[in-house]
Amino acid sequence: MVIQTMWKDRLSFSDLDDAVKRIEGLGRMGCGLLRFAVPDIASAETLGALAKLVSMPLVADIHFDYKIALRCMDFPIAKIRINPGNIGSKEKVKAVLDKAAEKGIAIRIGVNAGSLPQDLRESVGQGADRAEALVEAARRELAVFDEFGFTNVVVSMKASNLADTIKANRLFAKATDSLFPVPLHIGVTEAGPLVAGVARSSACLSLLLAQGIGDTLRVSLSDSVENEVIAAREILGAAAEIAAIEGATASNAQRRLKRVGVTVISCPRCGRHGFDTHGFCNRWLNRLYALDRTITVAIMGCEVNGPEEARHADIGITGAGGKVLIFRRGVIVRTVTASEADKAFEEELGMGS
Ligand code: SF4
Repeated sequence: MVIQTMWKDRLSFSDLDDAVKRIEGLGRMGCGLLRFAVPDIASAETLGALAKLVSMPLVADIHFDYKIALRCMDFPIAKIRINPGNIGSKEKVKAVLDKAAEKGIAIRIGVNAGSLPQDLRESVGQGADRAEALVEAARRELAVFDEFGFTNVVVSMKASNLADTIKANRLFAKATDSLFPVPLHIGVTEAGPLVAGVARSSACLSLLLAQGIGDTLRVSLSDSVENEVIAAREILGAAAEIAAIEGATASNAQRRLKRVGVTVISCPRCGRHGFDTHGFCNRWLNRLYALDRTITVAIMGCEVNGPEEARHADIGITGAGGKVLIFRRGVIVRTVTASEADKAFEEELGMGS
């Protein structure tokens, strides 16, 4: 399973140094594919310059103009995402597929409920099933790829409606798995702001993943790329736990899913707290998720429940009156002031500042 996110802004050449640093950080957090909107040739040139500077596989997201896709493939990118239906004539699609085949670049057919072909949109308007229309749109595009002998393909069928997304992906996986398995990129499009988007994506994606559906995923949030990656990691971890109790029916999922890296448990905070768990989480989450270690970290508000509730945590931090305690597997190892807490925690984690 590969986690994908999408860059939120238009890149310029003057942004590249900062972008490289941020992309390296995303890689440490578990992101394995990074997509960029490429609306014009100038953006293709910027993406090309970036692709030479990072090891992260980059995806160019292109609509309408096949020449942009052709230019992107002059650079070391991993994938093109197109909606062949808006690329134009078959000759233009063929030109893109021929160059992708020559360069070994994958293509994602990205079908979206908001941009179905006209006839399918009209049939949905007249009551046809939207999920079936998404699958039909993907099938049509695959037929074109098949006609040109192009097989290095990934399909996505996304809707903002959870039921349509689940049903379309299930239908597609059922129809293709035994005959010609096609990798699926899964996600809920326009899932929403942080909390709502994570909740909706989690409900949808953990269900699909636990059934063995999905090869790459993105949690689309009106929030940062880092939070998209954290959300995707947590959903993969949740799906692994669900698959484990579902047994044989989820054996495919069990083979591919597992929780890796840090598990953060944190208390919600209440009137007893002596430590600002919210602020600490905000300061530390990106760094914790970039740790290359499988550990459980507890961030607790008070000594009443802190170390005891988080006894299984490898390392934890909790308030205690006017002090802050750092504990390992429930045993207190340091007592510091609030102002010393971040540094002491960093030292106990073995992280350099
Ligand atoms: Fe409240 Fe303490 Fe429990 Fe946090 S750990 S929710 S502060 S009782």
